[in-house]
Amino acid sequence: MSQTALTTSLDGYEVWFVTGSQSLYGEETLRQVAEQSQAVAAGLAGLPVRVVWKPVLIDTEGIRRFALEANADDRVIGVIAWMHTFSPAKMWITGLDGLRKPLLHLHTQANVELPWSTIDMDFMNLNQAAHGDREFGYIQTRLGVARKTVVGHVSNPEVGRQIADWQRAAAGWQAARTLKVARFGDNMRYVAVTEGDKTEAELNLGVQVNTWGVTELVERVEAATAAEIDALIQEYLACYDVVPELLPGGERHQSLRDGAAIELGLRSFLTEGGFAAFTDTFEDLGGLKQLPGLAVQRLMAEGYGFGAEGDWKTAVLVRIANVMGSGLPGGASLMEDYTYNLVPGQEVILGAHMLEVSPALTSQKPRLEIHPLGIGGKQDPVRLVFTADPGPALVVAMSDMRDRFRLVANVVENVTPPDLPKLPVGRAVWKPAPDLATSATCWLSAGAAHHTVMTTAVGIDVVRDFAAIAGIELLEIDQATTVAGFQRELRWNQVYYRLARGL
Ligand code: MN
Repeated sequence: MSQTALTTSLDGYEVWFVTGSQSLYGEETLRQVAEQSQAVAAGLAGLPVRVVWKPVLIDTEGIRRFALEANADDRVIGVIAWMHTFSPAKMWITGLDGLRKPLLHLHTQANVELPWSTIDMDFMNLNQAAHGDREFGYIQTRLGVARKTVVGHVSNPEVGRQIADWQRAAAGWQAARTLKVARFGDNMRYVAVTEGDKTEAELNLGVQVNTWGVTELVERVEAATAAEIDALIQEYLACYDVVPELLPGGERHQSLRDGAAIELGLRSFLTEGGFAAFTDTFEDLGGLKQLPGLAVQRLMAEGYGFGAEGDWKTAVLVRIANVMGSGLPGGASLMEDYTYNLVPGQEVILGAHMLEVSPALTSQKPRLEIHPLGIGGKQDPVRLVFTADPGPALVVAMSDMRDRFRLVANVVENVTPPDLPKLPVGRAVWKPAPDLATSATCWLSAGAAHHTVMTTAVGIDVVRDFAAIAGIELLEIDQATTVAGFQRELRWNQVYYRLARGL
């Protein structure tokens, strides 16, 4: 078996920048088009994903070849197109129809300011994106090509921000298209919302979701050596405030060693199989001594996706969010809406899970503790205890609506709660936008899940770009949301997504 190291890095990816024109202008103008489009591409240096300039395209065959090359190159996660001059758009039909990579239409021009006193027809001929891009917009819309449109000069930071968001979404899409999810056991018995059509998921998202018996994981856990466990314990001591009973020589140190063996076993299984996400279920732990807590928390913080109770859809979201947030402060985690504070004016949601919340949500040093777990019938599990940092965050859930997948996202604000001295799990406390009653009414109306990914690294704009690239329904709950408007959108979407799918 091949060893595949997990990465969330965007360094190996490229976005190709291509400029459209035509041969009518003559060589001198095309030389200027090439020169200026290189300058525009250079203006996009410093974005999360490297922008690579490609030669100006002037005819149908060149455009078709370009699309095929972009499709075939695994490094290429998207294409940015700009029509500096007028590129008659019938030249683009075959290429756009065949392009399988995310597309961004950059509606820009080489100059910021018009040279009012010197402008002549030569300048007008060269700088005509204002109508060249309209021709391109027409053919994209006529062909039904999904794309993001960004308008403005590349020196405008807002243009860079919008392209950066799209790049992150495109990287999330690339991560989905190559994602293998390992499920240890099936879903929690009788639960509905964590179910879903794994065959459709592979077609719609590219994710491969398959199940292994937990016995295969147990074999790996049992194969962990004392030396490997010792080394990992040293890492725990360096990274966390470990409670005395778990320290070497402490009365419950063996439980920490058991937790370390679970981490080693999980790593071995995931690495060898090339998996970047996984699920487990407390109802099917076989020979595992504890429900994996610490190990799952650490793996999520490294970039793995995870869903509890067999929830592979949330595992997929956590992995995608980890990649989209690559290099940014904060992180992504499985989250569960757990319980509310309903005091008027102080309404917040307390989110957590049995154990499995990623410490990427905190900048504080987590405490490594051990406590009983009233479910699952195994030994007490070790876990990291912390509270997510205050600040902006986003929760996103995926539901299987029978004929399609639906994403629902809520813009939220993590807040600092009062002390929680008796709550021995990682948790976050947040105010959902626009308010708890509106948020929860919309969430329930949409059939959105109790499991989510919480990301503190990327915002709603990136998730919106991702949904557009994936062609997946996204319902947003933010400051502008009203229950009446949201419920109308739900009804319209029921019709739209069925019609858009065709027969
Ligand atoms: Mn759960």
